[in-house]
Amino acid sequence: MSGAVAGPEIERLIQLLARVPGLGPRSARRAALHLIRKKDELLGPLGQAMQAAAERIVICAACGSIDTRDPCAVCSDLRRDPSVIIVVETVADLWALERSGAMRAHYHVLGGTLSPLDGIGPKDLNLDRLISRAADPAVKEIILAVNATVDGQTTAHYITDLLSHLSLKVTRLAHGVPVGGELDYLDEGTLSAAIRQRTGM
Ligand code: ZN
Repeated sequence: MSGAVAGPEIERLIQLLARVPGLGPRSARRAALHLIRKKDELLGPLGQAMQAAAERIVICAACGSIDTRDPCAVCSDLRRDPSVIIVVETVADLWALERSGAMRAHYHVLGGTLSPLDGIGPKDLNLDRLISRAADPAVKEIILAVNATVDGQTTAHYITDLLSHLSLKVTRLAHGVPVGGELDYLDEGTLSAAIRQRTGM
């Protein structure tokens, strides 16, 4: 074990940064140093932005996304097509699809996938709310934009069965999505093509 190289405030900053996905202990030290060097332009404003976000984060009661208001910015956007709901596993997937700019529709965030091995069943996902939203006559299509993993596909089939009594189209992303692929890691072009060339379940 190496000793601390700085006071507890800086060590704490490094330890917290090291828990951010994509940053390990080394990158966290580098990031901390960069923030400290840019104290006025970066460290201070970042601290304030984090504080403000932490105080105001809410989960949208309609779609399950996160925002600082409920209903969220996506659900309140009247320019979106109300007839299409894109079902995603996580908020990261919602953001990835929005980055691709493929479609201005509504979303529904499941909060994960069915995973019997991990003890995640239907009750653990945001499914009841999806069923009531899908029953709205204004909704004509549900796009299952789940990951191309075994759990993702199991979840897609489960939802298709759940919605089978409703007269709407249920589609899934085209096979541009590599097997085992997670949406968040795909480039915008691939995602956009996968959604445009979606197929029926
Ligand atoms: Zn929402």
